[in-house]
Amino acid sequence: MAKDEVLECSFCGRKKPETDLLIAGLDAHICDKCIEQAHGIVVEEIAEQNSSAVTSELIVKKPKEIKAFIDEYMIGQEKAKRVMSVAVYNHYKRLLQPESKDEDEIEIEKSNIIIVGETGTGKTLIARTIAKMLNVPFCIVDATVLTEAGYVGEDVETILTRLLQAADYDVKKAERGIVFIDEIDKIARKGDNPSITRDVSGEGVQQAMLKLLEGSVVNVPPKGGRKHPDQKFIEVNTKDILFMAGGAFSGIDKIIGKRLNRQAVGYSASIKVDKVDETNLLQYIIPKDLREFGLIPEIIGRLPVLTHMNPLDAQTLRAILTEPKNSIIKQYQKLFEMDGINFTINETALGYIVDKAVEYKLGARGLRSLCEAILTDAMFELPGTEETELKITKKYAEDRINMSTLKKLKAVS
Ligand code: ADP
Repeated sequence: MAKDEVLECSFCGRKKPETDLLIAGLDAHICDKCIEQAHGIVVEEIAEQNSSAVTSELIVKKPKEIKAFIDEYMIGQEKAKRVMSVAVYNHYKRLLQPESKDEDEIEIEKSNIIIVGETGTGKTLIARTIAKMLNVPFCIVDATVLTEAGYVGEDVETILTRLLQAADYDVKKAERGIVFIDEIDKIARKGDNPSITRDVSGEGVQQAMLKLLEGSVVNVPPKGGRKHPDQKFIEVNTKDILFMAGGAFSGIDKIIGKRLNRQAVGYSASIKVDKVDETNLLQYIIPKDLREFGLIPEIIGRLPVLTHMNPLDAQTLRAILTEPKNSIIKQYQKLFEMDGINFTINETALGYIVDKAVEYKLGARGLRSLCEAILTDAMFELPGTEETELKITKKYAEDRINMSTLKKLKAVS
C-alpha cells in the first residue's frame, strides 16, 4: 500500500477521516457506521427466526397430557377438563398446519370455547392453567367494561391491547395467545326489555366482538382507550388467537329445565324426566339455551366448544383447600415459612372453613376470603417475634370469622 493512500471502509467507501473508527480485517476494513448497521440487521434476523420458531417450538401436548397438567392445579370438573383439552389440542394442531393455497384442502376451523358455570367454580383457573402450560401470552378481559365504539367504555379492540401487553408487544407471540373474556353473559341481549335507547352494552358489543372471534386483521391501539388519540395502531391478526369466554349465565338453569320438560312431554320421550339431575341442570346445556339467554347466533357459532363447570360441593371445596399444586393452604404455609413459622391447620378447622364457604355461596373464591379473615391477625402479629409455631384449630378459626367483616356480610345478605 502506498504511504499516502487513505484507508477506507470496504463496505461504504467512507475514507478514514470521515469515520469515528475504522477496524482492519485481513483484506478489508469496516467503519463504525457499517458495524452499527450490520448489528441492526443481525438483531432483526434473529428476531425473525425466533418468531417463526414460535410455531415450530410449539410442542403440542396430547389431550391426556393437557388434562394431566390441569389436574395438578384443579380439582374435579372432569367433563370441562376433557372438552377443553381436546379443544386446545385441536386449536394448536390447526396452527401447525402449513398454509395451503389448495382449495380442496380441509381447513380446520377455530375451536373457541365458552364455559358456563357459577362464580368461583374455576372458569378463569382452567383458562389460566392452559395458558401457563402452553407458555403463550394470556389475558383476562371483563366483558362488562366493553361498549360499542363511540360510547363511554372500552372498544372491543382494547381486548387485544391487553394481549399485546401480556406479550410484551411481540405481535407474533400475541397472535398465538389466549384471551379469556369474563362475564360474557353480561353482554347478552336484554330480550324482553325493548329499550328505546340503543343497546350499546349488549347486542352492539356482541356484534363488535364477532370480528375478533372469527379471525381478521384488527387495528389495535397499543395503549388502549381513547386517552391517547395520537397513538399509532398496531395490526393484529386474530386468526390464531384462542378465545375462551366464561359466564355465570344466572337463570339459564330455568331455560334448560323448561327445554328438558318440553322434550320429555314432547316427541323426544327418550330423555326420561326421572333421569334428569335437577340439582345441576347446567350439565345439559346446549347452544340453543345460550341463544334464548340473549347471545346472538353469530357469537354462539364462533364459540363452538360449549362446556360447563359443576357447582362445587363440600367435598370438592375441602380438596381445593389442600390438594392442588399451589393450593391455598400450601401458599399460606409458604408465607409463614418465610418468617420461620411452622403453620398447621387441623381437619376440623378445614371442615369449618368449607362449611362457611358453602354457606356464603362464594364457590372456591370464598375459601380464600375466609382464610384471609382467619389468618390476617397472625400474619400481622407473628413476623418479627420469637414465635415459630402457628396451629389453627376450629375454635381459633371461628373466633376470627366472628370478629371479621365477613360475618357482617352474611348478616346483610
Ligand atoms: P370463576 O372464573 O369461575 O369465577 P375462578 O377460576 O376465578 O372462578 O376461581 C376462583 C378461585 O377458586 C381461584 O383462586 C381458583 O384457584 C379456585 N378454584 C376454583 N375452582 C377450583 C377447582 N376446581 N380446583 C382448584 N381451585 C379452584
